[in-house]
Amino acid sequence: MTRLLIVGPPGAGKGTQSTRLSEHFHVPSIATGDIFRANIANKTELGTQVSAIIDAGDFVPDALTNHLVAGRLKEPDAADGFLLDGYPRTTDQLRFLDDLLAQEGTSLDAVIQLVADPDELVQRLLKRAHEEGRSDDTEATIRYRQSLYQRETAPLLAVYKDRGLVVDIDALGPVDDVADRISSALASREIAPVAR
Ligand code: AMP
Repeated sequence: MTRLLIVGPPGAGKGTQSTRLSEHFHVPSIATGDIFRANIANKTELGTQVSAIIDAGDFVPDALTNHLVAGRLKEPDAADGFLLDGYPRTTDQLRFLDDLLAQEGTSLDAVIQLVADPDELVQRLLKRAHEEGRSDDTEATIRYRQSLYQRETAPLLAVYKDRGLVVDIDALGPVDDVADRISSALASREIAPVAR
């Protein structure tokens, strides 16, 4: 049973590491942003409800997001653990998740924080934007997203730090190295995949 949350600034490789972790621990990666986007693409009722909010760059209301996550965590594939990505994002969501897990007699095992020098990430994202022809990604917009990320995650990380759950991982360097750093940091906390 492994219950994880991954956080990291834009460009730190959170998506890539989530995929690795999900395979390593045999748990589903549950990314609320991806779920919302899939619902918008499939024109579901939820998709219709959230599409304007997401386009405007706002947060989906907590009640809706919490309900979505509660349902997702009840799916059979999450019974043996999960990796959350992009949730919780507000203090209300954090409390809701606490209660939800407490009802099952469980709690998060660790919060993996990808850490990287902001200037390095700006260079990385500018290079990617150039390669992909995304001229709207300028240094200013990237730095703005970085500051939003900091503001958004700081209060949540403070809570998880108090609980001793936060595991800082150097996110720079080859993907395999970062993945190895994560699994050894977790292993040293006795968080390891169950043998199958
Ligand atoms: P992401 O891919 O994680 O950046 O999410 C894309 C968008 O989905 C965000 O900008 C929000 O509008 C919405 N979203 C994703 N996760 C949450 C969440 N936990 N709470 C509120 N809104 C969310």
